Amino acid sequence: MLDEFLQEARVAYFSMEIALRSEIPTYAGGLGILAGDTLRSAADLSLPLVAVTLVSRAGYFRQELDAEGGQIEHPALWDPARWAAPLGAKVGVRIEDRAVWVGAWLYVIESDIGGRAPVILLDTDLAENAPADREITHYLYGGDDRYRLMQQMVLGLGGVRVLRALGFEVSAYHMNEGHSALLGLELLRHFTYPASELRAGESPYDVPRVRQLCRFTTHTPVEAGHDRFPYELVQRLFCDGGGSGLSAMPFDLAELQQLGGRHELNMTQLALSLSAFVNGVAKRHAEMSARMYPGYLVRAIPNGVHPYTWTAPSFRALYDRHVAGWCHEPELLGRAERIPDAEIRAAHLAAKHALIERVRQLTGIELSPDAPILGFARRMTAYKRPGLLFTDPGRLAAIARQRPFQIVLAGKAHPRDEEGKRLVAQLHRETRALAGRVPAAYLPDYDLALAQLLTAGSDIWLNTPLAPLEASGTSGMKAAFNAVPSLSILDGWWIEGCIENVTGWSIDGAESLYDKLEHTVLPLYYGEPAGWARLMKGAVTINAVYFNSHRMMRRYATEAYLR
Ligand SMILES: *Cc1c(COP(=O)(O)O)cnc(C)c1O
Repeated sequence: MLDEFLQEARVAYFSMEIALRSEIPTYAGGLGILAGDTLRSAADLSLPLVAVTLVSRAGYFRQELDAEGGQIEHPALWDPARWAAPLGAKVGVRIEDRAVWVGAWLYVIESDIGGRAPVILLDTDLAENAPADREITHYLYGGDDRYRLMQQMVLGLGGVRVLRALGFEVSAYHMNEGHSALLGLELLRHFTYPASELRAGESPYDVPRVRQLCRFTTHTPVEAGHDRFPYELVQRLFCDGGGSGLSAMPFDLAELQQLGGRHELNMTQLALSLSAFVNGVAKRHAEMSARMYPGYLVRAIPNGVHPYTWTAPSFRALYDRHVAGWCHEPELLGRAERIPDAEIRAAHLAAKHALIERVRQLTGIELSPDAPILGFARRMTAYKRPGLLFTDPGRLAAIARQRPFQIVLAGKAHPRDEEGKRLVAQLHRETRALAGRVPAAYLPDYDLALAQLLTAGSDIWLNTPLAPLEASGTSGMKAAFNAVPSLSILDGWWIEGCIENVTGWSIDGAESLYDKLEHTVLPLYYGEPAGWARLMKGAVTINAVYFNSHRMMRRYATEAYLR
């Protein structure tokens, strides 16, 4: 089963979360969706990658909402045996004073056009391990600092060891965000200078060699967003001076501080120190990262989304008819210009009906196909400002009295993000308060499948982050594949994607959001069908054509992997 993947050297792509498919809840949000799209495109393009992640048997969580919009979190258990094949390899990672054994599963991403990409799921739920250690790979982003650092040790140290044990030849290591930065320490253990070449006091670790092997993609535009651990905790978990053959920490503290930061182990700093190629996920984000970490060259490879995954069935059929080959070569979508308006409208109406039906099933709320749907769904956290749309509910209702529109919302808050949970409850309340004036629904348990329906079935895709905190954002790109224009704050990808009145509209706060909705967006929707169709096509021919993960992976291949 594994043999077909061992024939050639592969790029090892490490990510704490990967959205493999909607039935497998091993992702929390955009980072995991991006990782999944990365691998789906790698499979389509037959790029030699192997992905490494945790099995996350209890997923992120399943979100239920109580009558007041309170978020109830349920484990999202899944059975790896149903989707993946157990692999024989088992490796030890020393944590605190004991060996934690790490096993592995193989999940294969299969492209519709024949390509395949292997994903290794790391699993500590083995009989050899103490009960608490069996849960290290259970809860995605669960627990406290100690739990998270143990997870990162399993991912970084365990992941490299498992790839070796399975017989993979690795041509490069790609860290998707800092969670997997510890893999660099594991590599340093293997690449040392011969003792005879060292002068007294010199470090034996061949840092330049490891840097040549590693690539790092950062996704966080602010210092506070980066994972950091106190060295006291790091030393305790790494069993400093443990002496066993499994010992995870061959370094003294001073050496580690040089690589990972003076006061705390900063995973971004560590990844930067050990990677020859570093990139941000949008132009503005790369510039900000370069300013945050002077001395490092941070390139920009803008994110993209997987064409087939994020295109609704009605649009897949439409593109197949008019621009055959589009999902393998999304550049062809530039030619979608010639699709008759009526066919674009019909494809959109089919996607809109699918969303309306799902809203009815989930909430009992009946939306109309005749009025535009304003869609907004994301991780509910303060910087995404989900409440901005409801700054002045009276004004919203007044705008809707002139020209009706509808609102659909969704999103989970991290279980420890109290502010995020407050926002979920607030939005839930706002939708109820608008009842009878602006039809509005808050859908529970935002996930990949719901995102597919929402980004395709809405008429306008809204995004209101607090600039410059959105590194990229990707849901607006998904909307673009379905001819849905964005109404968004100029931040992240939208700085590059927005051409005013051509691909959508920019806003800079609540006031301009209301003004554009009232004076530009709704009058166009109701008054100028041909103008609206032009805008729908603009989203496809200018944005989907570029913000896709095929273009992104071709760039990673030529600029990062082959260097
Ligand atoms: C695309 C997606 C995201 C990320 O969307 P942003 O626009 O980056 O906020 C988060 N969650 C799910 C389920 C998604 O499909």
